[in-house]
Amino acid sequence: MVSSTPLIELENIRRCYGGHDGAPEVAVLRGVSLSIAAGEFVAIVGASGSGKSTLMHLLGCLDRPTSGTYRFAGRDVAEFDADQLAWLRREAFGFVFQGYHLIATESARENVEIPALYAGTPAEQRRERASALLARLGLGERLDHRPGQLSGGQQQRVSIARALMNGGRIILADEPTGALDSHSGQEVMALLRELAAAGHTVILITHDRDVAAQAQRVIEIRDGEIISDSGAQPSAQALPAPDMAAAGQGSSLPWWKTFDEVARSAWRVMWLNRFRTALTLLGIIIGVASVIVMLAIGLGTKQKVMAQMASMGATTLYLYSAQPPEGGPWGVLSEADMLAVAKLPEVDLATPVIGNQRTVQYGNVSRDIYVYASNEQLPGIHHWPLAQGRFFNAAEDESLAPVVVLGHKARKQFFRDEPNPLGRQLLIGDAPFEVIGVMAEKGKESGADYYDEMVFIPYQAGRARVYQDILEPEYATLTAMSTSQVNAAGEAVRELLLARHGREDFQVDNAAAKVQAEADTQDSMTRMLGLIAAVSLLVGGIGVMNVMLMTVRERTREIGIRMATGARQRDILRQFLGEAVLVTLVGGSIGVLLGLLLGTGLLVAGVPLIFSLSAMLAAFACAVATGLLFGYLPAKTAAALDPVVALAAE
Ligand code: ADP
Ligand code: MG
Repeated sequence: MVSSTPLIELENIRRCYGGHDGAPEVAVLRGVSLSIAAGEFVAIVGASGSGKSTLMHLLGCLDRPTSGTYRFAGRDVAEFDADQLAWLRREAFGFVFQGYHLIATESARENVEIPALYAGTPAEQRRERASALLARLGLGERLDHRPGQLSGGQQQRVSIARALMNGGRIILADEPTGALDSHSGQEVMALLRELAAAGHTVILITHDRDVAAQAQRVIEIRDGEIISDSGAQPSAQALPAPDMAAAGQGSSLPWWKTFDEVARSAWRVMWLNRFRTALTLLGIIIGVASVIVMLAIGLGTKQKVMAQMASMGATTLYLYSAQPPEGGPWGVLSEADMLAVAKLPEVDLATPVIGNQRTVQYGNVSRDIYVYASNEQLPGIHHWPLAQGRFFNAAEDESLAPVVVLGHKARKQFFRDEPNPLGRQLLIGDAPFEVIGVMAEKGKESGADYYDEMVFIPYQAGRARVYQDILEPEYATLTAMSTSQVNAAGEAVRELLLARHGREDFQVDNAAAKVQAEADTQDSMTRMLGLIAAVSLLVGGIGVMNVMLMTVRERTREIGIRMATGARQRDILRQFLGEAVLVTLVGGSIGVLLGLLLGTGLLVAGVPLIFSLSAMLAAFACAVATGLLFGYLPAKTAAALDPVVALAAE
């Protein structure tokens, strides 16, 4: 059954090389016209260098002619775009090369599966068909062998199985027996004859006339021209040509269905080059780990500062007496000064404080501790609740009431065994004070745990009964009306006291601003370290790009093989992008682990640090994005390779 349109029709095909960059133009094919019908078994014979391989690359749509027309099943191939050509290679052709062109890192079965992978055949079906084909060619026992573990004859049979994977309507065999011993060569020829008898169109290229004689039709080529043709032999049965209406439509599997294939082959390549991969990953690992640790430290420190701020109040100012800059005696802050300061509109509270070491005694426990005399506003200023009892009030302060409130640790020191210290009498100096309350624990994390060791008495009672020698407040704790007025309050206090004292014999200490400044320093520190981490990621990304470019160069022939078996440009792009992302994913994971490890070490060493899940996810996402970004150029380079050039690479 011979159809009216020939399957393959070449008309005055020329293929020239050179002609640019000063190189003389060489015509390798010089006007080849040829027509081959479906089901024919054709041998193209000619001396080495006569242009046979060039012709085969053109027939198999791996290359385009310089001029002339190639019609496949009646359609002009020049009109086909890259995807449609890939479709033709996949659906119509099966290549068998002299050098087998198997992918060295993949097993026999995986090599055979490749054309079906690009045709979108489901994995299960692929595996079955590849196994069946290999079994039919006598390699049922060798499915999982790598090409390097097979003899030449066996490798050639694997490549024939691969050519048949998608049907192999047209088998293009370029010197298939050239590298084989005579016995294996005869086996391969027998296989090709069998395929021809089964209706496959077989185009066999050889320099050996005896081999060519086994075909039904022999075409002789010399210096790029056909010099003889034994003529078409009508074939009894022929496989139909592929449905040209579907050209280029072939569905590729969605990327997530080929992901395991891509990941598997990427993993294999990474593993083969594990030392190089590990070095490349170092940048990513360090980048991700440092992002995580830096952010954790930043967060931890910030938390600490916030706690300090909360315990101190974000509106607190301190007012001290001082020696004026121009010299002279130290200033004295009087209670009248306090009253005037408290009346300023920016200032909320002004609490005078006298505090010193005094001997405090209860029963047989006697200690020198800090006795803090101030007024009833202290719990409010320090945002400090009571654990037990109550704080003294304004009336008690005015009436010089001998009452005392204990800090958390002071309570433990004096009343270790007593469940309820309220109502007990403490001796401060030699004045008795009644315990009326216990403060809650201020805690280490607030950075003000020294407060826990103190006892607190009313200011007036303190002056009258404990600090008889101290006539005026030692310093004052002020609070501004609001956080936004802290600086204004400080300035107003300064101006007021300057007017009252006539010289700067005092000092306003803006505690809130200090904590804020510390927080800001910490923030900019975190930002800077984050920047270093980001730079490290960038360097890692460049490393990935470098190694991917190297990979593409090393595997150019593999890319050619994949293209010859029908890979689209986007399949190649996807593969190499997948590899880059996998590399960075592995690097990102190791980085996260390393970050956690380092952070835990620091935590144990006492550095305040808080891990954040979002920081970890962000670092991880950064790594993957780096892979995508820096893998894109190499992947694009790979996808843009010319199939013939790629195949010829060593
Ligand atoms: P054959 O397969 O018959 O031995 P080829 O088709 O491989 O011959 O090559 C035919 C001629 O074309 C040779 O002289 C070869 O040097 C030349 N040739 C092949 N490929 C290229 C190329 N990419 N650039 C320049 N010349 C080439
Ligand atoms: Mg050749």
